[in-house]
Amino acid sequence: KKTILDVKHLRVDFTTDQGTVQAVRDVSFSVKEGEILGIVGESGSGKSVTMYSVMGLLAQNGSINEGEIVFNGESIARKDFPDNRSYEKKMREIRGNTMAMIFQDPMTFLNPVLTIGKQIRETLLNHNPKMTKKEANERAIELMRQVGIPAPEKRINQYPFEFSGGMRQRIVIAIALANKPKLIIADEPTTALDVTIQAQVLELIQEMSRQTGAAVIMITHDLGVVASLCDRINIMYGGRLAETGTDREIFYEPNHPYTKGLLNCINNPEDDDKELTPIPGSPPDLLKPPAGCPFVDRCSEAMKICKTKMPVETIFSDTHRSACWLNEKKNREEEQHGSTK
Ligand code: SF4
Ligand code: MG
Repeated sequence: KKTILDVKHLRVDFTTDQGTVQAVRDVSFSVKEGEILGIVGESGSGKSVTMYSVMGLLAQNGSINEGEIVFNGESIARKDFPDNRSYEKKMREIRGNTMAMIFQDPMTFLNPVLTIGKQIRETLLNHNPKMTKKEANERAIELMRQVGIPAPEKRINQYPFEFSGGMRQRIVIAIALANKPKLIIADEPTTALDVTIQAQVLELIQEMSRQTGAAVIMITHDLGVVASLCDRINIMYGGRLAETGTDREIFYEPNHPYTKGLLNCINNPEDDDKELTPIPGSPPDLLKPPAGCPFVDRCSEAMKICKTKMPVETIFSDTHRSACWLNEKKNREEEQHGSTK
């Protein structure tokens, strides 16, 4: 399968009155056609900043200072463009077309004074100058049907307020799908919805990815949300990738103490009595990030080296990597053990 997005050694900084916020450091990952990748982390982990860098929606005081972002074969990191105008032009072409977005609150995305039909048609016509209005209307109805909106021929002329929260998010998904994107980026797409509706919307996103072959990147603070949905998972902490793996690797062979901590916080339906143990402490201040492992202050297994040196990644498989000094320690012990035999 073709790689749709390839992010290499991404580094993003924000300039603030207090100093430089080291928001993202050395983050590398890729996504292939039809794959669903979850990016999991608490606020300040760098998960949203990473994806906003990809979408070209970083705030003005943010800059990509190192690394590469290759989307659909093209380099799209802001630093690789001669000026801001050519960058903005390129990203406007891409967004809503080959790269689509679904945000947390559909009402921030939908225009309250336009019918949803008009909003879907506009997305289609903006990127397909040869399409007629009639064709756009037919395609809009087809999209509404595809995302499970009943009686689309009638409802196409209604306004956003006439739909429930779940239905509105379906409309946003219809708009995201309008131009057959190669990549859909969903930022906490179900946080604003009821639990039962959440599951339906996630299922819809998964189904749409299967049907269209679009890759999906799901940004979330909740590892439980991505459990049944994602093929691969990136666990981010303090602006870095703590661990990355397939769903099986993350859930059955977690390596990083932070990943293990997150797993302990998930409610296990087969084990109701299990106590949920949130990880005590708070994330590092990225104005003054620790010299060593960003997780050091909250890690129950921290060693001396963790305070002073950034952990190197240990590679377990083509898909599974983790940045924790415990792996080095284990290797060394194994070596020593072997040599005294
Ligand atoms: Fe904990 Fe050290 Fe591993 Fe960081 S490197 S997660 S502090 S053991
Ligand atoms: Mg966020």
